[in-house]
Amino acid sequence: MLVPCYNEEAALPVFYDRTSKVINSINRYEFQFVFVNDGSTDDTLRILKELRERDTRVCYIDLSRNFGKEIAMIAGIDYLSGDAAIIMDADLQDPPELIPEMISYWEQGYDDVCAKRTSREGETFFKKWSSHMFYRILQGVSNIPIQKDVGDFRLLDKQCLEALRLMRESQRYTKGLFSWIGFNKKEILFERPARIAGKTKWNYWKLLNLAIEGLTSFTIAPLRLAAFVGCVLAFLAMMYMAVIIIKTIIYGGDVAGYPSLITVILFIGGVQLFFLGIMGEYLGRVFNESKFRPLYLVKTYNGQRIVRQKFYGGRG
Ligand code: UDP
Ligand code: MG
Repeated sequence: MLVPCYNEEAALPVFYDRTSKVINSINRYEFQFVFVNDGSTDDTLRILKELRERDTRVCYIDLSRNFGKEIAMIAGIDYLSGDAAIIMDADLQDPPELIPEMISYWEQGYDDVCAKRTSREGETFFKKWSSHMFYRILQGVSNIPIQKDVGDFRLLDKQCLEALRLMRESQRYTKGLFSWIGFNKKEILFERPARIAGKTKWNYWKLLNLAIEGLTSFTIAPLRLAAFVGCVLAFLAMMYMAVIIIKTIIYGGDVAGYPSLITVILFIGGVQLFFLGIMGEYLGRVFNESKFRPLYLVKTYNGQRIVRQKFYGGRG
């Protein structure tokens, strides 16, 4: 069980109770909780400490600051041991009652059993619509089948976990990475309830950024689009040039056309800035990745100070 937590003091005890009830009823396997405290500013860390005192199956990783859910997840994955792991949110939006079903599919040989949501309670129409459009665009521009309406709630075999450990990009779009690694996938359906306590950390601005993240980390189609639009515009400009030259030869020159001139200049300028921005986006990613910084820093693991960070392939 891998659980990233950021300011989840209200949800954690309930999460622990409900989840341990479910896993206590499965005695074929040994379970372990791996909580990642993603720089919470509330009492989350104290609650995790208390849980570990009560239950030795509980492990917790305390990151040195808030790194965001995507990084918190890879931190947890690095520290996981065992044959499989289930990634869950702490707010019980991922019902633990699905765990037995996930495990049974895993036993049948699936490597990645993901929970697909059929409904999203407590979310606005606009949010649903925008996420639907985003998935369609992403699928349209990429060759890898993108899973629709699946979150991070899934069971991963250790083979998948190792694959994820190999991917050390710092700007992570984990949903895309899950699709990228492939392996035998199985989707099970569930209704996603509203979070039980606390507030969601997502707002539209963050979601928009995640969407850009998803697109740019997955495909260079926007760059190709830039080249394509550039070609089309250049071609149209050449045609128009020919028209103007012929017109001037036949009818003689005139200096009218200031409004059309200014609109064309502004339009081309806008298009250029837009694509320059897209290029900057990719250049920025190159810049960020080329620093080869570790993805996260761990302050303590199960209460023990970590001085030497874990490193994978020369990069933490
Ligand atoms: N989370 C995290 N770091 C962050 C933000 C969120 O570890 O910076 C965790 C959070 O504690 C929760 C999960 O990621 O367990 C999902 O967060 P949230 O419920 O806010 O997202 P939503 O369910 O609305 O997508
Ligand atoms: Mg949530």
